Amino acid sequence: MPVIPYGKHSVSDQDVDAVVNVLRNEFLTQGKQVPLFENALCSYTGAAYCTAVNSATSGLHVACLALGVATNDIVWTSANSFAASANCARYCGATVDFVDIEPETGNICPIFLAQKLSMAAKAGLLPKVLIVVHFAGTSCKMKEIRQLCSLHGVRIIEDAAHSLGASFDNHPVGSCQYSDFTVLSFHPVKSITSAEGGAILCNDEQLAKKCRLFSQHGITKHPAEFDQPAEGGWYYQQIDLGYNYRLSDLHAALGISQLARLDTFIECRRRIAQMYFKALGNLPITLPQISSLQTSAWHLFVIQVPSEQRAAIFSFLQSEEIGVNVHYIPIYKHPYYQANGFEGYVLDNTEAYYSRAISLPIFPELDDAAHQRVVETLKKAFA
Ligand SMILES: *Cc1c(COP(=O)(O)O)cnc(C)c1O
Repeated sequence: MPVIPYGKHSVSDQDVDAVVNVLRNEFLTQGKQVPLFENALCSYTGAAYCTAVNSATSGLHVACLALGVATNDIVWTSANSFAASANCARYCGATVDFVDIEPETGNICPIFLAQKLSMAAKAGLLPKVLIVVHFAGTSCKMKEIRQLCSLHGVRIIEDAAHSLGASFDNHPVGSCQYSDFTVLSFHPVKSITSAEGGAILCNDEQLAKKCRLFSQHGITKHPAEFDQPAEGGWYYQQIDLGYNYRLSDLHAALGISQLARLDTFIECRRRIAQMYFKALGNLPITLPQISSLQTSAWHLFVIQVPSEQRAAIFSFLQSEEIGVNVHYIPIYKHPYYQANGFEGYVLDNTEAYYSRAISLPIFPELDDAAHQRVVETLKKAFA
């Protein structure tokens, strides 16, 4: 029997045609597709500005740069995430620290955040930026988080790599209703794919300009931004140190075509999640818990099993060709972070979550027979 992966892209003939058409056109990079994709992402999310980039990792780096994150700054994020959520701050030379999570969602817990902020304020060690991660496709409690951060002048970046297509209190993730930036990923396992790709959304024109600048070498062609008059029609200036983080038109064309299918994808994921809720209710496991304010993009379906059984259940599922995964090894547990100040560091809820987590297969093309096989195999694991 073929392995059922934990996540997988869905590429249609139309998606393929969209990419091939660009290949036959005049521009492979910097043509019409990138701005069209950016506009489509603004329309979908309600954000005013969008900068497409070549990955969410690049997007997180650029968002940090745009907020002025530098050496001597502190950035907080969740350790229940992919390394990129913290690495972006390290690229800027900042110090990273982590806020513990709530067990229900795996997201940053507003209560821990409140405690950590007041202690940091007393010690004069407030972060410049908090990067929240909408784990598994469910938004963090953004109203409370925004309120707390505003109180202390802390800026917010949403790492929404898991959660395009989700909403919080009827605001689509990406609207930046409660943040300075939202960063999306279009890696193949995410809500939609452009193969590799990402985007930075925001509602502030000046911040949007900085994103474009930092993702295009720090080069501008706008005379208003020059420090002297243009020397001719060819003229441009590099006014800061930027990077080549541009998305190509090929990738953008795939992204546009996929974005048109996003709502269908989310509907498929929601249906699969509901089938898991129905089928797994009687097992000695904890299922994801989301509040009425949250609609999830169901990027992951994480179950929590007794920690002492996790390794055995994981191996059993794997041996039965069920492509399970674990999200996440706490970021500070990786040797790089251990060697950079995190030896002996512990966040209780983050570690407990990790010790019990198994991600079950969930993706738009997971059919009912495969779903059934996952459920039956999991039941066997507990029998
Ligand atoms: C996938 C992911 C990223 C990185 O996305 P890329 O587009 O691959 O750079 C960042 N944060 C989280 C939470 C992710 O899951």
